[in-house]
Amino acid sequence: MTTLINNIALEPKDYRSGIEPTWCPGCGDFSVLNSLTQTMSASKIDPFNSVVVSGIGCSSRTPLWMKNYGFHSVHGRALPVAVGMALVNPDMPITVTIGDGDCFSIGGGHVPHAARRNFNMRLFVMDNQAFALTKNQVSPTSREGLKTSTTPFGNIDAPMNTIALMLSYGATFVAQTFAGNPKHMTETMNKAMAHKGFAFVNILSPCPTFNKTDTFVYYRGRVHDINETHTDLTNMAKAQELAATAIEHGYDENAKVPIGVFYQVEKPTYGEKLKALKERVGAKDKPDFKAIFDQYKP
Ligand code: SF4
Repeated sequence: MTTLINNIALEPKDYRSGIEPTWCPGCGDFSVLNSLTQTMSASKIDPFNSVVVSGIGCSSRTPLWMKNYGFHSVHGRALPVAVGMALVNPDMPITVTIGDGDCFSIGGGHVPHAARRNFNMRLFVMDNQAFALTKNQVSPTSREGLKTSTTPFGNIDAPMNTIALMLSYGATFVAQTFAGNPKHMTETMNKAMAHKGFAFVNILSPCPTFNKTDTFVYYRGRVHDINETHTDLTNMAKAQELAATAIEHGYDENAKVPIGVFYQVEKPTYGEKLKALKERVGAKDKPDFKAIFDQYKP
């Protein structure tokens, strides 16, 4: 379970900063923000002892709309910032809100290492299959054939299967949800928030301004809850089998889009392993910064 610093009870609205989002009307990210505040409230997260970290993009504006401490970092670098925070304060609830392009293209090199080390944080990817803030460039999750400003004749690249990737990277919680199903999204976020370790949730969050293919209407007819039958979440083989279907719909219009928790196991977090290592070698919990700085005094 996420460690609670203060046992507080706040309403979802109490997690909003008071600054109104500047997203386009109909953007899926509104729904994500709504579920995020509900999750913060249900999980009793103390806004003054927690943080929301982002990179750059439409979805990465989320920390501005939240009352928690926030860090709107630079393109692709949300995870290194979050990892630094987790190293210093491994029990603090850390939520990373990020877009698909930012996370898996520019910041793609950071993802496997944060996942395999099992840092205690939540990675909520708002996946609209495009770089939207910068006016609709192709992203790593764009389906084949998608026309964007950089692929005016249709995308010729195969999309990344981010669910399958996160499983192979060693994430201890891997899920997908849909911004058009707020109940499912909030429940999935609640589960991720309660998970001890690295929790990844891919949120299908349509961009009505630029992506006219992967829309709310499109997903509504296709999503299906895998947890109606997939109940042994520790079964990696089954999780991989289900993950393989995550991008099938891009090639077969009759294929379903899986949502739900694919995989969840409990393993020691990086913070726990580091603490144990320090105890084993007799290291101080926190360095003596004064002594370090004094060494370099002229
Ligand atoms: Fe949302 Fe797309 Fe507008 Fe960005 S451009 S705010 S993703 S609808």
